[in-house]
Amino acid sequence: MTPEDLKARIADDGVEFIYAMFVEMHGKPCAKLVPVTAIDDLLEVGAGFAGFAAGPLSQDPSDPDILAIPDPDSYTQLPWQPNVAAMQCDPTVEGESWPYAPRVILKRAAALAAGQNLVLKAGAEAEYSLLHRNEDGSLRPADERDTSELPCYDARGLTAVLDHLTTVSRHMDAMGWGNYANDHEDANGQFEQNFQYADALTTADRLIVLRLMMHTLARRDGLYATFMPKPFADKTGNGLHTHLSLWTADSDEPLFHDDDDPRGLGLSEMAYHFTGGILDHAQGLTGIVCPTVNSFKRIGVGPPDSGATWAPSYVAYGGNNRTQMIRIPEGGRLEVRVPDGSANPYLALAALLGSGLDGVARGLDPGDPNTDNLFALPLDEIRRRGITALPPTLLHAMDALVADDTLRATLGTGRDGDYVDYFAAVKRAEFRSVNDQVSPAEIDRYLTLM
Ligand SMILES: [Mg+2]
Repeated sequence: MTPEDLKARIADDGVEFIYAMFVEMHGKPCAKLVPVTAIDDLLEVGAGFAGFAAGPLSQDPSDPDILAIPDPDSYTQLPWQPNVAAMQCDPTVEGESWPYAPRVILKRAAALAAGQNLVLKAGAEAEYSLLHRNEDGSLRPADERDTSELPCYDARGLTAVLDHLTTVSRHMDAMGWGNYANDHEDANGQFEQNFQYADALTTADRLIVLRLMMHTLARRDGLYATFMPKPFADKTGNGLHTHLSLWTADSDEPLFHDDDDPRGLGLSEMAYHFTGGILDHAQGLTGIVCPTVNSFKRIGVGPPDSGATWAPSYVAYGGNNRTQMIRIPEGGRLEVRVPDGSANPYLALAALLGSGLDGVARGLDPGDPNTDNLFALPLDEIRRRGITALPPTLLHAMDALVADDTLRATLGTGRDGDYVDYFAAVKRAEFRSVNDQVSPAEIDRYLTLM
């Protein structure tokens, strides 16, 4: 879109203000509200930010401004406040793209793939919980009658929050995302609203707008929307199942489909190599796609009240089998089930792309698909077969991340060193900060134990 096209579109839409947006490491949506009368300056110079104040961007208070340059292709009128449009920006410092900005990192990874005539397309299932906060600070589902042990797909649960769900659906369509399904998920108060896949950058941009929309609508209703991986210990967590496929950049041909797949999953050899790469880098990758202390309460733990976590514990792939880390729901794409709602979508998609392409480059074979129910297979049997477990904590995942040279190269380097080292330093501090707290569960366990 040229600047003239953009201005015509803004005038057509009756938009008065632009959110000039970017995210830092955690995916916090940072923005300046810019009146459209200042659009020329915004497009040429960018919106200025003190990077240190925004969040982890490897900036300190003495650094010059981050100037966030909007990407016209990301222009999205926000249907819930139609006089405002969002534009996702690429942060720059002194005229150069800032290598610690997640959107810059994904664009770099996508450009490397484009150099091999490849485009990653991605779809994401952003599960979230819609909650009411009680006066004592505790949380309950938005619908106070949503207490069943098996609330998944319950039409009554959908009906109770129909206004919210249908509003989100209409907004998704107004933004051109193509909403195609909405459901009550496996935990009380948990929902998922699906939209069509797109190239990785577009999907990542949409996830940022989606989260902003959910927070905004929930707040208007006096509720909280949360994407945190595990808001309740006894309920299923919020995943960000990510569907991936490679396509040719020049002719938009799908590369992951093969009807003659001898393993019967409808995947091409390239898709198997890509799968092999994601499995090979699973330990370090988990640190990027499950990036919080809370993430590790969703994966690799026992079942919640509903009977199954629906989150993987082991590094394995299978066909249409939701107990696997990678599921092949149908020919032509992979579903990676590790990522959770706390993942930064730009970093997650960059890391998945880098891992998969490494598998393609090395011709990795993931072996035959696993057909077991991995939620039920005894631990002894899992060990006997040599199936490895995902990392048990954020600290373990950070150790694996900094040891992974492919992810190190994929996420890039900047003034202060490699992004993985910066990421790990921030996340190790986060682990310590959370772990230093004495929880009620510790008091219950230890107060009179000895
Ligand atoms: Mg789901």
